[in-house]
Amino acid sequence: MVANIILYILIFIMGTVFGSFFTLAIYRIPKRQDITHTHSYCPNCQHKLGILDLIPVFSYLFLGAKCRYCKERIRPRYFIVEISSGILFVTLAYLININIFSWNINIIADSAFLALYLCFLFIMAGIDKENRQINKAITVYGIMISILYIIYLCTVEKANIYRYVIYLIFYVAFLILDTITLKKFVKNSYAIGVMLTIITMAIFTGRFITLNSIILTLIDIIAYIMINKIKNHKKKNIKIEKTVEKNISIGFLLTVNNILCIICILVYYKIM
Ligand SMILES: [Zn+2]
Repeated sequence: MVANIILYILIFIMGTVFGSFFTLAIYRIPKRQDITHTHSYCPNCQHKLGILDLIPVFSYLFLGAKCRYCKERIRPRYFIVEISSGILFVTLAYLININIFSWNINIIADSAFLALYLCFLFIMAGIDKENRQINKAITVYGIMISILYIIYLCTVEKANIYRYVIYLIFYVAFLILDTITLKKFVKNSYAIGVMLTIITMAIFTGRFITLNSIILTLIDIIAYIMINKIKNHKKKNIKIEKTVEKNISIGFLLTVNNILCIICILVYYKIM
């Protein structure tokens, strides 16, 4: 019992460390800055952060949401991402029955792939929310972990490779289409970015969860359009398509709905 509580505290801490990495990646990747080597710094005064400033969640609470050096307010976004990532890690670990007595190589491998997938989701969604852009580097990272996961499933878990061939063909087709239409490989168009994200989602969470995530996302978008129509019914000249294009981050919505669907399915299996 005590051992399990300690395990879950460790999983929570690990979740917040991942969360802290997500905020850094979301901030730096669109600026094309290094995410592994350059020391963390305050975006306002550029002061390098010390060990104490880097402890997720606690540093935010102890420093009173201010930079220790220039007293600039730290955006609550950092705190929110760190704490929600910690809570999500604990929730998922509980739902997939991780405990100290049931360790085996499959559970470790599955958890590792889940963590890699969550990295993809969080960073893609964060960049989309901030800049309304599906970042190409993150898309490519998603494709690489998908291929690794397929290799794992087909060799260790003896899954049927043919189930996944279709996804791989879609990946290649979309990447080629994108490169031809944009005439460069470093960027991707928003629509194709969303398609590639959906394929990665399907590989990691299966067709059923992915389909539900897409349906929920469509409902969100329709609800958003309806609310906007009601709000702006007197102003005739506002183009709904333009507000949708500017304000709706599809990658972000897909991520929220995908995580909701994963949790619902896991709760269902846990109860049944
Ligand atoms: Zn500062």
